[in-house]
Amino acid sequence: MIATTRLLGPSDRFGRPLRNLRISVTDRCNLRCRYCMPEAEYQWLPRSSILSFEEIDRLAGIFSGLGVTKVRLTGGEPLLRHDLPTLVRLLSARDALSDLALTTNGVLLARQAEALRVAGLTRVTISLDTLRPERMREFARSSRHADVIAGIDAARAAGFPSVKLNTVVIRGFNDDEILELLDFAFGRDLEPRFIEYMDVGGATGWSMAQVVSQREIVETVARRYGAVKPVQQSQWAPAERFALPDGRTFGVIASTTAPFCRTCDRGRITADGTFLLCLYGEQGLDLRELVRGGATDAEIAERIAAVWQARDDRGAEARLGLAERGVLHRIESLRADPRREMHTRGG
Ligand code: SAM
Repeated sequence: MIATTRLLGPSDRFGRPLRNLRISVTDRCNLRCRYCMPEAEYQWLPRSSILSFEEIDRLAGIFSGLGVTKVRLTGGEPLLRHDLPTLVRLLSARDALSDLALTTNGVLLARQAEALRVAGLTRVTISLDTLRPERMREFARSSRHADVIAGIDAARAAGFPSVKLNTVVIRGFNDDEILELLDFAFGRDLEPRFIEYMDVGGATGWSMAQVVSQREIVETVARRYGAVKPVQQSQWAPAERFALPDGRTFGVIASTTAPFCRTCDRGRITADGTFLLCLYGEQGLDLRELVRGGATDAEIAERIAAVWQARDDRGAEARLGLAERGVLHRIESLRADPRREMHTRGG
């Protein structure tokens, strides 16, 4: 039984395999985006609780033995973690991991893109919500817009086969930039992806009125470019992809209005080593305790497989079903458990 589990990997109660792992390498961030970190002060995880590179690498090996083939490093801002290429080098030496990606705000990417590529990173996704520096100053409390653009260009120059641009679309902030951002991405050979504003973690100012739906985004693009068509792709991909009449493509991640829980094959590890089964999940498995407490790889794999097999989370669908949908967490709830923060659990 155990051998079968190892070979095929565990499936959860809805038959979803564990294939994707998002690892938050730090809860710190150098931006203060209003949809993620709007508060003046934060409760940071104690540094001693943050997983070391060796601990992350060991866990990645255990997860790959359970069927994980794709790992995404995130945060917080992962490039704030000192010497990230060293972690990338460790992970890329693992043959079972065919895809090793990074999600970053790009502020520190220009200096590191080449080293990350050489270390074995296969894909980069860069978050860019506006092309207007003054908007970024107001919205993310940062004047580093030019650095982000330089980071995007450095990623392209480093030769990553795929560089994606993530934009969270928020009504009244950047919904008037959808087409400009699309053109910017096409002009630099990046795949643009628009994300619906989600009521996750630190989004304490969230309201449905600010959500720009996938339908609206697609309609906006179609008005400019003509009818767009959905592109066939793997059922496990979070973004739905669409093609313009000329064949260029863009993606939309419709987690708020059209969630894709039934095809979610993603687990995530918080910066301090809690394994979560859902972005909205409350309870997790404390892997740090196991790793630091002397558990063997087989014992840890057994525990991971057991929680995955018991998984019945469909967090975003449950939120969609609510009659009155407000913010998920208020500030007191985030302070009571910082693992509820998006920047701790990793977006
Ligand atoms: N610092 C990195 C970055 O900015 O890409 C990685 C971490 S960030 C939490 C990962 C992604 O989550 C970003 O693309 C960000 O825009 C997205 N995100 C954060 N809060 C969100 C929210 N409330 N709704 C939708 N996307 C969100």
